Amino acid sequence: MSGTHRQGPPEDCASCRKLFTVLSEHHQASPDLRLTVAEIGTRCGSSRVTAQRHLSYLVKHKRVKADGRTPVRGATVAQGGEVPDDATPLQWAVNVIAPDPTCGKGLRVLAGQGWSGRIGPGEIAAAAGISVRTWERHRPHLVTARLVQFTPTTVLARDGRHRVRLADGYRLMSGVVVAAPAGDSYAADAAGDQAKALVDSIRWYCAPPAEMTRAYRLVASRLLAQWPAEELVRRAVFPEPDGYVGNPYGLLSTRLPGPAESYVIPAEAAVRGETSARPRCRSCDVLFAGGRVSPDGLCRECREELTLPLAPVARVDAPRCRECSHQVGPAQWLCDGCGADQRVPA
Ligand SMILES: [Zn+2]
Ligand SMILES: [Zn+2]
Ligand SMILES: [Zn+2]
Ligand SMILES: [Zn+2]
Repeated sequence: MSGTHRQGPPEDCASCRKLFTVLSEHHQASPDLRLTVAEIGTRCGSSRVTAQRHLSYLVKHKRVKADGRTPVRGATVAQGGEVPDDATPLQWAVNVIAPDPTCGKGLRVLAGQGWSGRIGPGEIAAAAGISVRTWERHRPHLVTARLVQFTPTTVLARDGRHRVRLADGYRLMSGVVVAAPAGDSYAADAAGDQAKALVDSIRWYCAPPAEMTRAYRLVASRLLAQWPAEELVRRAVFPEPDGYVGNPYGLLSTRLPGPAESYVIPAEAAVRGETSARPRCRSCDVLFAGGRVSPDGLCRECREELTLPLAPVARVDAPRCRECSHQVGPAQWLCDGCGADQRVPA
């Protein structure tokens, strides 16, 4: 007998949330090692009986699969704004609704390293227990979902002539886009002044007066589009150009966001509420209280409706891979990539 759980969504139960996080973290770290209920209890700081009660509740509410151990793909039991503002990247990542489970694995590997950093595809794939090919296939999903930003980086080789490609830099992103408000002339003046100060502070940007004015206008337009000044400076100055810059305006404009690009709040800033932008739920547009974005970028109401992320709706009769929801042939359970990942040596 494990008693009955009080009614209500698992989101409202602190023990269910704790237990879900424990299971998600364990599933990421060692998917093949089945925890006993007593072990789960120990990790949650509760008894075996208590752990069993909440575990059954999570299974009943489809947050955990019938095996009692595997978190349902994409399910979450976090409340909006619930992640503490000292949350680790991994705590954030386990609450994010990833596009598919394979993406979720990759995302958690990145999160295990930090909010940002540098890591190569081989290392990510090995840590996630997938092939490099599978990772390369899923990486664009994370970029499209605005959950990760990758920055290719090259450095000048010792010979001073060739460039060597390093592992890509990455940054975890909240998926929440900040839309530009309708501008007014007061905002335009303020942006103009700020843009001038910003461009003047970029040491490598030395150009004739006409090119300076062009740069001020370029930066002002991005400030008006809600790009924070710090982010524009960061993009403009890193990495320091090596050597003489022949076309400073050209370099500046390739480094700054394009006119159609919107500012996405980085995950860390979103979790801590450290953003000057006013973030909104990515589904219904409601403002987040206190500027703190929930881990999946959704407000509570929207999350309740979307507890399970829905794979892009396609023709119902098109069979899909059970793991990553890519389209597969009629007699296939898994796509080639996922099939290769899961094949066990005989
Ligand atoms: Zn519970
Ligand atoms: Zn994916
Ligand atoms: Zn919403
Ligand atoms: Zn697949």
